[in-house]
Amino acid sequence: MLAAYACDPAQSRGRRFAQVPAPTRSEFQRDRDRIVHSSAFRRLVYKTQVFLNHEGDLFRTRLTHSLEVAQLGRSIARSLSLNEDLVEAIALAHDLGHTPFGHAGQDALNECMAAFGGFEHNLQSLRVVDRLEERYPQFDGLNLSFETREGILKHCSRAHAEQLERREPGGVGQRFLTQTRPSLEAQLCNLADEIAYNAHDIDDGVRSGLITLEQLADVALFEDCRCEVLVEYPHLQAQTQDRRLLYETIRRMLSAQVYDVIAATQAALEQAVPCSVDAVRALPPLLQFGSDMRLKSQQLKQFLLHRLYRHPKVLVTTGRAQQTVRFLFGIYLAKPQEMQARFLARSQAAHGAADPQRAAARVVADYIAGMTDRFAAREHERLI
Ligand code: MG
Repeated sequence: MLAAYACDPAQSRGRRFAQVPAPTRSEFQRDRDRIVHSSAFRRLVYKTQVFLNHEGDLFRTRLTHSLEVAQLGRSIARSLSLNEDLVEAIALAHDLGHTPFGHAGQDALNECMAAFGGFEHNLQSLRVVDRLEERYPQFDGLNLSFETREGILKHCSRAHAEQLERREPGGVGQRFLTQTRPSLEAQLCNLADEIAYNAHDIDDGVRSGLITLEQLADVALFEDCRCEVLVEYPHLQAQTQDRRLLYETIRRMLSAQVYDVIAATQAALEQAVPCSVDAVRALPPLLQFGSDMRLKSQQLKQFLLHRLYRHPKVLVTTGRAQQTVRFLFGIYLAKPQEMQARFLARSQAAHGAADPQRAAARVVADYIAGMTDRFAAREHERLI
């Protein structure tokens, strides 16, 4: 029941290494299965979303975040007759390239790599599925289809896009040079990511005690839903019902955003009438919030930025995480023998590269980016 503007697995632009189709699964189902069985996917369970893994058992990790993105994405995809399997594959893979310690880790690694081409987690997610997973006898990586890779590479700098384009002409880097859009399934994962973290960061933020319901009264999207809940269920006003009030408010926030995206996108599709995925790629973004919800979502993002992500207590752990990453980077670059055997071997092979220093630094970045929070912390302890 796919719409004309959806990605059809039978029309896929294919894989980098041609493979015989699977007898019972579509190309995108196969991509999803490969992602779920990858090592990088299992590591997501011990990687920080906002709160460090050891800070509490109930906080989101990269894994539960990715599952929530997949759930929201699939739900919206089905309403819009988009390809649910592709959305699921992209959503489950979208954060595979994240470093340990969340954005703090990524910023630190990007600084360390400044002289060697930088570090971008989106690009790293693509590196994981294209090169770093070692599971197949015939090729590096998972050999995913073009459409899944297109969705994974959500942002990319011009310099990196040019590099990708040289290696793979007309590939996933091209749209950043031609300023065209990815498929609707990819656009959807982007928005589902935002809807998911806006909601679960409120939940985790309140649970941690770093933000309060009183502060959230300034956030229109939250406050409107909270008032609606209290009109319907006045007994939730009681202090003992705090959790239930919070969950019901977040549940309504999620629904409001999901219904808004579906309605706004349906309207945009009726206007533009794209008859194929390539028509979608040539048009401005069609998968979108309505203008009112866009503003509300931005307000919520700003609130989380100032009240949670930059909360002094979060910044303390952020600072420590960055020190750990910088320390590990310095040590491994100087003493590659401290890395696991396959990274040591790659580091030794880097001597033969056109720019050996740059190649060796990239091996270290790959090694650190692949670490879970707790493995990085253990390595820090061991090496210090
Ligand atoms: Mg994400």
